Amino acid sequence: MNILLLGSGGREHAFAWKIVQSPSCTRLFVAPGNAGTAQIATNISISATDFEKLAEFILQESIGLVVVGPEEPLVRGFVDYMRSRPETSNLPIVGPSALGATLEGSKDFSKRFMQRNEIPTAAYETFTPEQIEEGLAYLETQKLPIVLKADGLAAGKGVLICQTLEEAKQELKEMLLEAKFGSASAKVVVEEFLSGIEVSVFVATDGKNYKILPEAKDYKRIGEGDTGLNTGGMGAVSPVIFADDAFMKKVEDRIVKPTIAGLEKESIDYKGFLFIGLMNTDGEPFVIEYNVRMGDPETEAVLPRIESDFVELLMGIATQTLSQHQLQISKNYATTVVMVSGGYPGNYEKGFTISLPDQTAGSVVFHAGTGINSNGSLINQGGRVLAITGFGESLDTALQNAYETVGKISWEKAYFRRDIGQDLKKLS
Ligand code: ATP
Repeated sequence: MNILLLGSGGREHAFAWKIVQSPSCTRLFVAPGNAGTAQIATNISISATDFEKLAEFILQESIGLVVVGPEEPLVRGFVDYMRSRPETSNLPIVGPSALGATLEGSKDFSKRFMQRNEIPTAAYETFTPEQIEEGLAYLETQKLPIVLKADGLAAGKGVLICQTLEEAKQELKEMLLEAKFGSASAKVVVEEFLSGIEVSVFVATDGKNYKILPEAKDYKRIGEGDTGLNTGGMGAVSPVIFADDAFMKKVEDRIVKPTIAGLEKESIDYKGFLFIGLMNTDGEPFVIEYNVRMGDPETEAVLPRIESDFVELLMGIATQTLSQHQLQISKNYATTVVMVSGGYPGNYEKGFTISLPDQTAGSVVFHAGTGINSNGSLINQGGRVLAITGFGESLDTALQNAYETVGKISWEKAYFRRDIGQDLKKLS
């Protein structure tokens, strides 16, 4: 079968790496892909949001399965577009409809969904610019810190944790009345602060059935000890020590089951991956957010732990036959260290030549923001450049393997965190 994968990050390189290992994959195309996917698949220079060109390509290459990596094409209605064209209306696609993608595209929508389906989450209220006075009055009734969230997509920047009432009032005014996050903050969710440890749970669903994939913990901040600015993600670890059987049973019963049942009950067409960001508060799980696709860099730690045939899993999702799939997960650890361009998440220089080792024993190098220059050399082309995943029977071994490979990779001003997984070592 010919397969088309949309996206260009480390997540998509990890998807491509898994897909080409399956005997069911004849040819894999990636739109637009990166220098890593080019080594194992065929990159095509079509944007992941150019639906018309993608549809033409799908017909031309007899694509039998499309896998959507990032949220943007989903929120913009990739699935609905393909369903609306007679030639692609039955095409197997891994990714939810635009309505399903609203679980990520609108925080107010996702909070209302959770409330309707009695899924544990922080208490909240939503306000529009017309309701500014009510919003300010509501803030006065809240405990500190107060969490303010722009309703729409804001590239991971739309969440503010305010330590004082004055700050919360000021921010609420700027978000609602001065469009601090553009149209994304035309509505603001004001939420109770949850304390605890975060964990990401990944679910594959065909809209009726589900499989819980390995969980992961990610490292969002640029600096060691989780300090400094937020990034797209500096590392990930799977499994997560505190997500033990008892905790995961609560997650399944209280969160996964009612979420999937809610999607079905509300006739939301959802065949894809669901990423549930959770807070573990004294052993009790609360949903912080839904994302309608896999996380990056968590995917680079989660997918390598899947031992069963990956294309079969994808087809199970897309053709609503997931109940027949036998998912097998490795007990081993996978730990991912992200190498970024110096200066990221602020300004950074591109175009430096990257030197990669020939041997990467016990690890694999996934590309994210890489490219090839006119001399044919591998160069950094984005903020997050490479994601190195190490494997091992213990957290320590996996980390050692990842960092050993990281130590053999260089380009000018490359940066990475040296403390990925250290907090989990303390808990083990
Ligand atoms: P991203 O795109 O980075 O995943 P986002 O913009 O979609 O983030 P959220 O995931 O909802 O927003 O929030 C970002 C971060 O803010 C969370 O990972 C968590 O650390 C923190 N956070 C969000 N809501 C709460 C809450 N109610 N209590 C405590 N912390 C919170």
